[in-house]
Amino acid sequence: MEKIKMTTPLVEMDGDEMTRILWKEIKEKLIEPFVELKTEYYDLGLPNRDATGDQVTHDAAAANKKYGVGVKCATITPNAARMTEYNLHEMWKSPNGTIRAALDGTVFRAPILVDGISPVVRTWKKPITIARHAYGDVYKAAEMRVEAGSKAELTVTSKYGGISKELIYDFECGGVLTGQYNKDSSIESFARSCFAYALSTHQDLWFSAKDTIAKKYDGTFRDTFQRIYDEEYRAQFEAAGLTYFYTLIDDAVARVIRSEGGFIWALKNYDGDVMSDMVSTAFGSLAMMTSVLVSPEGNFEYEAAHGTVTRHYYKYLKGEETSTNPIATIFAWSGALRKRGEKDGLPELQTFADRLEQASLDVIREGTMTGDLCLLWEKGEARKVTSAEFMDNIAEKLHAYYN
Ligand code: NAP
Ligand code: MG
Repeated sequence: MEKIKMTTPLVEMDGDEMTRILWKEIKEKLIEPFVELKTEYYDLGLPNRDATGDQVTHDAAAANKKYGVGVKCATITPNAARMTEYNLHEMWKSPNGTIRAALDGTVFRAPILVDGISPVVRTWKKPITIARHAYGDVYKAAEMRVEAGSKAELTVTSKYGGISKELIYDFECGGVLTGQYNKDSSIESFARSCFAYALSTHQDLWFSAKDTIAKKYDGTFRDTFQRIYDEEYRAQFEAAGLTYFYTLIDDAVARVIRSEGGFIWALKNYDGDVMSDMVSTAFGSLAMMTSVLVSPEGNFEYEAAHGTVTRHYYKYLKGEETSTNPIATIFAWSGALRKRGEKDGLPELQTFADRLEQASLDVIREGTMTGDLCLLWEKGEARKVTSAEFMDNIAEKLHAYYN
């Protein structure tokens, strides 16, 4: 066959450990035989981040802004143990954090569903995508313990020197308190990313918070979403037959559990942290969870939600064949290729992305899968294979489409 052509390069960000091994194999077996792959390559593997003083991460983030579509492999976020293991010059920041800050983006996580692995919640038929606002609130809060007899007040000094105060509590016994904040600019970017992603994936958008209690704080989130929706997105949503609605988080939880899925649920930072673990666990496996960072301008960066699968990598280093699940990383590639195809008007590239996903899921549907999924499989005996065998099976199906 003649290979499928691309016009604009994808921003390719390589990573670490087991996922770096899978990355190479995905490209060689599942993409390069079919697509004349054009990428701008950034090696975000920890050794290269260290050698470049993390400049490579900043360069990759800039390239994402320039080209609009990127695909990223999982990367190590260094801690004390990694400092020794990799003999690092510095404890470099999380690359995901750096890229997210540069793009001012929101992360959307969605499960990949396959017949034969059922969600714990019986009514869920379609994926539920969680959008978590990854800035501020309790994650950037000041907190204190106070003694009995302390009077706690919230004090704000304006730029003109004016002071406003509000009593928090007169402590008759010891206690705790916290001061949280968020920024209008960040809430607005969050809202725009959510609306843009809902349109891009053709799904309804829900946003929930606790505005009955936090009238000003959560009320600001609610009002910001509504204003941006009315002013910038309502017409597009109506034309696409999509809805946006706000509801109290308690009500949202009840509706989510009774729903069929197939929508985006936007949440504040803490709510998103908790609910994304609840939803992903109920859907099955972390190895079947995709993640995409979307900026308010509509730049997209695709990756797997899981990490570098260190435990499997140490086995691999000892020469053992591992049964690490490549699905979420394959779907990061298909997501990025499809989006590139959409932006550049390349229907063949979009079809290839669909077929790559179809072939991957067909292998599982036929009962062949990696170890993590065998435990969840409900349709009789599963055939457990290594990562390499699994990808060979997918490649075979892809070749059948194209020959
Ligand atoms: P992890 O790599 O997600 O792996 C945790 C465990 O989950 C694995 O040991 C494995 O369980 C299972 N698992 C995850 N992905 C799998 C897959 N594709 N196939 C089969 N099983 C899978 O998390 P971690 O061990 O906590 O973190 C490892 C490194 O990844 C850390 O250095 C962390 O900084 C980094 N990390 C990066 C990202 C990112 O770049 N987005 C996200 C999270 C973590 P079993 O061992 O039981 O088989
Ligand atoms: Mg969490």
